[in-house]
Amino acid sequence: MPLNFRSELDPLSPYRPPRAANEAAAERGAEGYVKLTSNELSFGPLPEAEAALAEALPRANRYPDRYVASLREEVVSANSGSTFENILVGNGSSEILLNLLQLVERPGEVIFPWPSFGLYASIGTTLGLKSTKVPLTDDHEIEPEALLSAVTDDTRAVIVSNPNNPTGTYLTLDEVRALAEALPDNVLLILDEAYQEFVSDPAYSGSHELALERENVVCVRTFSKAHGLAGFRVGYGIAGQRVADYVERVRFPFSVNLAAQVAASASMRARDEIEARARFVMGERDRIQDAFREASLNYIPSQGNFVLVHTGPEIFERGRVLVREGDPLGYPGWSRVTVGDSGENDRVIRALGGA
Ligand SMILES: *Cc1c(COP(=O)(O)O)cnc(C)c1O
Repeated sequence: MPLNFRSELDPLSPYRPPRAANEAAAERGAEGYVKLTSNELSFGPLPEAEAALAEALPRANRYPDRYVASLREEVVSANSGSTFENILVGNGSSEILLNLLQLVERPGEVIFPWPSFGLYASIGTTLGLKSTKVPLTDDHEIEPEALLSAVTDDTRAVIVSNPNNPTGTYLTLDEVRALAEALPDNVLLILDEAYQEFVSDPAYSGSHELALERENVVCVRTFSKAHGLAGFRVGYGIAGQRVADYVERVRFPFSVNLAAQVAASASMRARDEIEARARFVMGERDRIQDAFREASLNYIPSQGNFVLVHTGPEIFERGRVLVREGDPLGYPGWSRVTVGDSGENDRVIRALGGA
């Protein structure tokens, strides 16, 4: 008799990064490729984060702070009205999403707009939850009414990537608030705000206040994007005390390692510098979008550190720029281009000239 596994796991495939060989080459800096595939920041961690790491290195023989107090403290001071008991931490925001979905009752379903972040469906499946994908509008927008119409008695959570990966479209805080108010109180609204630092619309900000007001709203954020710490795997969230208490019950002990704790705390403390980097990315995003427009390419105006453009990856690859192919993201014939540093963005723009 062979081992038997839960049959709902059969459709899941192990994560295989597209164009792995090219990406590996780009990471090594070989063959002159630049890697704009994964929405990472093109700069290294802030000097403050590097200094904190150097200081922590000799303590690597010790377990890290299990409660992650210093990072929680920085998150509290950056989010007015919150206390330690409102803060979630995790091994990347991915782990926080996992922990949140571990809390809800089975059987059950999670609802999210689609196309969006592929992890939502795979976590749901892993945990025995059904996924319901609600299409974006023809203008690639998240449609709150459509999410609400999809809610059933089995719905346990609604996840909104805000701004949405891969489109860069978003809901304003008023729209999020209206969605939260219209949802049944027993449905968790998870706002995945991985790209929140790059949003230029002032009508977007303040979601943490909503999470503090309403028990069923949670914000999830990450150090992987604007903070440039994707390699250390650390994220945080803001939730009501009851949700936060339950997340802490299921969280793996020591899931946030020492390096992640010290680097993320130092980076959070250097808020002005992170904001300056995000502003740079926003300016470069405009420059790339202008270039797409001049090249008569259809693109979706983005509030993230990436732009989805209606052309295949080949045009970029000719300029040795690796971008994410749209097909596995639900956008066949499109490419998702991460905003890089000025030199990398110059390469993107020059590649268009060769079209
Ligand atoms: C990049 C990204 C994340 C970040 O995940 P981490 O586990 O924090 O690295 C989360 N959500 C979305 C939608 C993303 O694009």
